[in-house]
Amino acid sequence: MQAVDAPTMITMLPRVRLVADPCSWLSIQRRVSRRGFHSDPLFCRQVPRSHGEEFAEILRERMQKQWKEQGLPRDRWPGLPSQRRPVRLQKSMRIDADVGNGPQLRGIQSGHHPRLILLLVVLGGAGVYYIFHLEQVPATGRWRFIDITAQEERKMGEQAFQSTLQQYHAQILPSSSPAVHQVERVARRIIRACEKLDMQRTHDAQPTQWTIHVIQDPNQKNAFVLPGGHIFIFTGILPVCQSDAGLATVMSHEISHQLARHSAEKVAGSKVLFAAAFILEMMGLDIGLSRILLNLVMNLPNSRKIESEADELGLRIMSQACYDPHEAVYFWQRMDAGERSGSGIAETAMALLSTHPVNSKRISKIKEWLPEALDQFQANGCSESERFMNLVRSGS
Ligand SMILES: [Zn+2]
Repeated sequence: MQAVDAPTMITMLPRVRLVADPCSWLSIQRRVSRRGFHSDPLFCRQVPRSHGEEFAEILRERMQKQWKEQGLPRDRWPGLPSQRRPVRLQKSMRIDADVGNGPQLRGIQSGHHPRLILLLVVLGGAGVYYIFHLEQVPATGRWRFIDITAQEERKMGEQAFQSTLQQYHAQILPSSSPAVHQVERVARRIIRACEKLDMQRTHDAQPTQWTIHVIQDPNQKNAFVLPGGHIFIFTGILPVCQSDAGLATVMSHEISHQLARHSAEKVAGSKVLFAAAFILEMMGLDIGLSRILLNLVMNLPNSRKIESEADELGLRIMSQACYDPHEAVYFWQRMDAGERSGSGIAETAMALLSTHPVNSKRISKIKEWLPEALDQFQANGCSESERFMNLVRSGS
């Protein structure tokens, strides 16, 4: 809307009088005299008029004047075209017109229905698909959505494996390296201990073809596993491990990710996230904001759950392989000391925004699982002497 200056406003005034505005002073006087004092205030509520309506108004005024001059009685005045009607009448006309334009207006008024039906169909279909692809992690019994087959998972893993080899080919240590010897020694025991769990991975599981690679990078205190069982250990984590038992904590954690098919679960989870964002967008919610919220509410907590599950399962596997489960606590304490942020607020923020549980939470959870792991350690015949031998080997 543009502002109108005073001179322009003055030039507009005669035109307003010319069109005999029904709410102009003269018109009101005329109506009051005709209809009595209690004139309906709605009568004079203006609605925007078109040029056609203004023309009809002028015509009506002139003809009425002419009939009046001719002495024609008011009750014999013929019906006038496009008489200016009060707002109520205009409203009722709009309703009549709506009825007249039935199909079109019904479509507009009920415009949400097709969208709502589509939304319900999408929700129903997505719900059925989700339920039909729920399965339990064999080792822990946790229910999760997964719609990736073992073959698809292997294929994805192979592609990732090739690109990882390409990325780190200059840093991958040869098999003659002492670091590789240590990693392979621990890996053999861990893999032997989890053979049964490996076969429970999927209903048609084949034994995993594990490959172990050590990447020379003293700054990376990290390790990861790719779908299909390709494990990569950075040399930067070895000093934190300190011993075979410490390294067993890392290896059994990574191997647990593969046994529980966490990579495939993450891919399936990203599909759920995408579908949820799409449904929220259909409901008219801002897509950018809904993605952030979904990430906070769904993706990150699920990622932390997966990590925690790998810790729990890893603790069991290392106990099964006769590595003292206490070493897992000591390893995470060392990791925590190396990464410590120091502030409680920073730790809370990390807990919310991180894909991994914070170290303090990890340690307390491992301590909770420790009695069960120790029972397993004893039950598997891992005698005190063997525990001692492990300590000797790791010290050498
Ligand atoms: Zn992990």
